[in-house]
Amino acid sequence: MKLHERFLDYVMWDSRAAEHTGTVPSTPGQIDFAKHLVEEIKAIGVEDVWMDEMGYVYGSLPSNMEKEVPVIGFLSHVDTADNLPGPTKLPRIIENYDGSVITLESGVTINPARDPHLAKCVGQDIIVTDGYTLLGGDDKAGIAEIVCALEYFVQNPEVPHGKIVFSFTPDEEIGTSQDNFNVEAFGAEFAYTVDGGDFGICCYENFNACCATITINGVATHPGDAKDKMKNAMLIGMEFDHQLPPWERPEHTYDHEGFYHLEVMNGTCDHCEMTYLIREHNRSIFEYRKEIMKRAGQFLNARYGEGTVVVDLKDGYRNMYDMVVPHMHVVDIACEAIREVGGTPDNYPSRGGTDGAELSWKGVPCPNLGTGSFNHHAVTEVASIQQMEQCRDMIIKIVEKYAAFEK
Ligand SMILES: [Zn+2]
Repeated sequence: MKLHERFLDYVMWDSRAAEHTGTVPSTPGQIDFAKHLVEEIKAIGVEDVWMDEMGYVYGSLPSNMEKEVPVIGFLSHVDTADNLPGPTKLPRIIENYDGSVITLESGVTINPARDPHLAKCVGQDIIVTDGYTLLGGDDKAGIAEIVCALEYFVQNPEVPHGKIVFSFTPDEEIGTSQDNFNVEAFGAEFAYTVDGGDFGICCYENFNACCATITINGVATHPGDAKDKMKNAMLIGMEFDHQLPPWERPEHTYDHEGFYHLEVMNGTCDHCEMTYLIREHNRSIFEYRKEIMKRAGQFLNARYGEGTVVVDLKDGYRNMYDMVVPHMHVVDIACEAIREVGGTPDNYPSRGGTDGAELSWKGVPCPNLGTGSFNHHAVTEVASIQQMEQCRDMIIKIVEKYAAFEK
């Protein structure tokens, strides 16, 4: 089956994840789609493929070489974001895209003058939505590319390769896919998530993440009788925010610059709660940012009384950089593969987290590669057929290069 036909089949499945359902996976649609993948991968001739009771698909293609080379793994996720209705009912192929403004059925437009990703697609065949749903290229493009690469090795047994392993995971979009991931069952020494945007991406840096909850205990009184008694929790909350540098907010930062992001603020005079996301690539600056939060709380406690401000810090994902760099071949080989199939490697640092970040810290260095689809989580999502084919070829090249790898 052609890559884009496989992709068009996958995007018809409703495998949206959902927050707070209390089940693993979070929705039954993910199990249905995962089962479909297991059947399909068996049908193309891969014997070792199975799904566990939580909807994680694992599998492998055995080495066809005498020589021992590293076991290379590829990962994508079966779920799609649930911020929009889905799945897409009417994906539309625009052949030989001419660079004009695209009007979707809903009336939403995508303008290449304002969308550098789309501008790169002139001359390519692209797939768009009807403008009411997302497409699901995140991450069904990645799955289609991995399955097609597996099919290539099954159909071309004369091409030498080491053991290839793969996994398709549920609930990446709600941040829980690594919680139940079985690293031993996966069995890779080095791996790649195929979960990025444009073809050419090979990302091996991401944010360190911390979630800070600030609880402010005020004192409420009748406003007419408030003198020297009232402590307005909301105003103290605003003072807390004023301790943080305003230029270090998401809207003023890019590239390697970290930030404090006030995500939620809820309050009354009596009580106020604020949630901040702290993000930073550099580990020691990350620790410093957390220290600033604590100091801001201490400063306000000195002014308003002990216990007024309670700062609770909870670490999230970590930057994979330190775990990948000692095995830089995992990046170098991917970049060579990208060049050899006609691309330009892009190592732009991720300003988020990836599943590969957690996996890297579990001992399997795991950069993130592009999928040839972009504008994820939006009705303006686009997938390029030629870029998806290049991503498939990149996966094949990576495997071929590791077949020649000297341990
Ligand atoms: Zn994704």
